[in-house]
This record gives sequence, C-alpha cells and structure tokens, in this order.
Amino acid sequence: METQSLIDPRQSYTKVLELLEKHHEMFRKSIPLIASENVVSPAVREAMASDLQHRYAEGWPGERLYAGCRFIDEIELLAIELGKLVYNAEFVDVRPISGVVANLVAYCAFARPGDMMVALTIPHGGHISHGKEKWGGTAGVVRGLEVERYEFNEELHEIDVDATARRLRRIETETGRRPRFFMLGASVFLFPHPVKEIRALADEYGAHVVYDGAHVAGLIAGGRFQDPLREGADCMTVSTHKTLAGPQHGMVVSWNKYAEKLKQVAFPGLLSNHHLHAVAGVAIALAEALAFYKDYAMKIIRNSKILAESLYELGVEVLYENRGFTESHTIIADVSKHMDGRTAEESLEKAGIILNRNLIPKDYKMKTDYRKPSGIRMGTQEVTRLGMNESEMKYIAELIAKVVVKKRNPDEVAEEVAEFRKDFRKVHFCFESATGAYDYIRIR
Ligand SMILES: *Cc1c(COP(=O)(O)O)cnc(C)c1O
Repeated sequence: METQSLIDPRQSYTKVLELLEKHHEMFRKSIPLIASENVVSPAVREAMASDLQHRYAEGWPGERLYAGCRFIDEIELLAIELGKLVYNAEFVDVRPISGVVANLVAYCAFARPGDMMVALTIPHGGHISHGKEKWGGTAGVVRGLEVERYEFNEELHEIDVDATARRLRRIETETGRRPRFFMLGASVFLFPHPVKEIRALADEYGAHVVYDGAHVAGLIAGGRFQDPLREGADCMTVSTHKTLAGPQHGMVVSWNKYAEKLKQVAFPGLLSNHHLHAVAGVAIALAEALAFYKDYAMKIIRNSKILAESLYELGVEVLYENRGFTESHTIIADVSKHMDGRTAEESLEKAGIILNRNLIPKDYKMKTDYRKPSGIRMGTQEVTRLGMNESEMKYIAELIAKVVVKKRNPDEVAEEVAEFRKDFRKVHFCFESATGAYDYIRIR
C-alpha cells in the first residue's frame, strides 16, 4: 500500500476506481464457486445504479413518511406481488436489507428476550445469525434468545428429530424451560430439512417454526428443493443474492395472520430506510425467477452432483457420498489428505478458482485449528448462471484436482482457467444480457 497516494485526494479517487476495474478483471478470469454468491443480470445492475439509491421511503407503500415515492411505491408493490407468486405466499416484505436483518425480524416477531430457540450449530452448517451469545451470534447477542442445538446425524448430515425431541424433554424436566421457536436452515445446506417433523414437534410446545432459506431461496423459487411454507413453516427468511440471483438484500415470506406483526417489527423496529435500488433489483430478480428458475434450479443441482462425482473420482474426498453428495447447489469436501483447507483455498485462488475453506464435523472432534479447517465448500449457482453444464463441471473438477491432488503450479493452472472462461461471458436465465457478466461499467 502506497501511503503517498492516500494523502492526495485525486490519487486516492483514481486508485479506488482502478481497484474496481482490477476486481472485475479478476472475476472475468476466474471460476466463481463461493456457495453464498451469485452474479446478477445486467437489468439488476442497472436498477442498482439508478436514482433510487439516493432516496428515502420509510414505511409501507402508500403509507410513506417521505414524498417523491410515487414510482418507488409501484416498484415495491410489484416486488411484493412477484414474491407472493414465486413463493406461493400470502405475505411478503421486501424491506429487510439483508438475510440477517430478515432473521432479526423473525426473532422479534416470534420470540421475546430470554425465550428458547432451537437451531443448528455452526459445525452442522448453522449460520452465525442463529448463534448463542457465547459465540457472538445474532440471536443471542441482539435478541437475547437462549439457543439450544438440534441433535444432528453426522453420517446423514441431517437433523435427528427424535433425538432432538428427547433432548428437549430432558431440558424441560431438568429446568422447566420449553422452546418458543424452532429455526431451520443452514449455510451448508445439502439436503432438505425435516420441516414437517419439526412442525409436529413445535406444535407440542405451541412454538413457531421459521425456515432460513438464505442459501436455497433460488432453488425453492424453481420448485427444486422443498416448499417450507407448505411443509409447515410459519415464515421463511431470505437472502436475495445466493441461489436467488438478486442484489444483496433480504426478504420475509409468511402468512397473512403474521403480516401485521412482521410489518411492525420491520418498520419502525429494525429499519429506517430500506435501500430502494435493491428493492427494484429484487423485483427484477423475482421476475427472472418466475420465468427461468425451473430450468436454472434444475441445472444448478445437476451441476453440483456432477462436480461432486467428478471430484470424488479424481481423489478429492467430497462428503456424503452415501446420500449422492448433495441435493442443492452446495458440496463440501475434506481435503486434509492433500493439504489443509486454508492452503487449498489460497492455492486455488492463485489458480483463479475462488471458493471457501470450511470447518467440517471431524474438525470439532479433532479440535483442528479453526484457521486451518479440513474442508472446502463450493456452490455451482454462479457457474451455472454463466451457462456451464456437464462437461464444464468435469473440467472444473480436473482443474481443482490439478491444484489440490497433483499439486501443480497454480500460476500455470490460472492460465488454463482464464482460457476456459473466455467462452462464458454472459449471464443466463435472464431477459436481456447485452453487457458481460463481469464487464466494468464506466459512466463517469
Ligand atoms: C448468508 C446467510 C445469512 C445472512 O445473509 P446476509 O444477507 O449476508 O445477511 C443468513 N442465514 C444463512 C443460513 C446464511 O447462509
């Protein structure tokens, strides 16, 4: 870092813009496999760069606290109607500005401080926003929930509902505490959750069930995962930018009977303004979902299965072979036979293959240093959106194996990756795609 350039405003200004272009150039030459990311259509990018990013519109459409919202209201109402269609839902709120904020809306609507929530732990794929206070988790720190864990079958990577029921009865006998809230959903979300069974268990306690669909919202939109509302969830929370390829934002999907409560905790409880350019982007992404996601979601899942099988055949130990590896966009592999997860992540990034290291269940038993976990996590939603199919998944597996198994020089692999990427420039599963997926747009 040249500190000289930071002192001069014009140089700093230029530097930021140069770095932005470099970032775009890097993604143009990379294989993006981070399971929580995606690339939006040019139309969504257009919405994000519109004047809406400067505006305020607190409240619900038609009941705003700001003037000048005529068209913003129409856009937001369209987003809500599209969300209802995509998720076959009675109530949708597109105001939460992220998945974590959507979860907070659910925590505030369905539980009070001190209430017991049951959620997955991080080793089992849970998200930090479901976490207890001790780990700095949002549920504990921000809403003061007492978080209890599900019992989990690690062989099957699945919530063990019977063992969880026994655990909760034991807790009640010993402490008198009863769950108020069952959180489902995960960040390593390989197989559908037993929503119906958890609904039945929750009913024994008069508790609520919320499904965090951050990772799988696009798969659900395409009808290729599970349908949490029909299976008994009171509410689904969404990040709009993982398998649902919208801008970074959040959404709450639920039933009319909870509408007033959910609206009220969102505003004025948790939001002031709610990022109107992103709301427009979400509306566009939902329209794309209606038109294209049956096909897109099917291809994401097919690609992740092919990538998993191909890696497995090449000596990368993808987990849960016993269940066909995955039923979602995500796969998880143990690379510790070859190198630790962090080294794998770094070597692969040098090779232009961008993915995350990840803790896997065995790391907790072996008390592995969390900075050097045994696993890596990958998702196929972004490469699928670039138009890649079966043969490309097999080739990506070969490229990964070259780095991780054969320990080839990553700089050499990077050249192959850049060459390969030349044929995949555009975003698919959208109405218009004139501008390349990672082209930098200059308007200054
Ligand atoms: C990513 C994720 C979130 C957080 O979403 P943000 O939009 O980044 O706030 C919440 N829950 C789960 C399960 C996630 O994977």
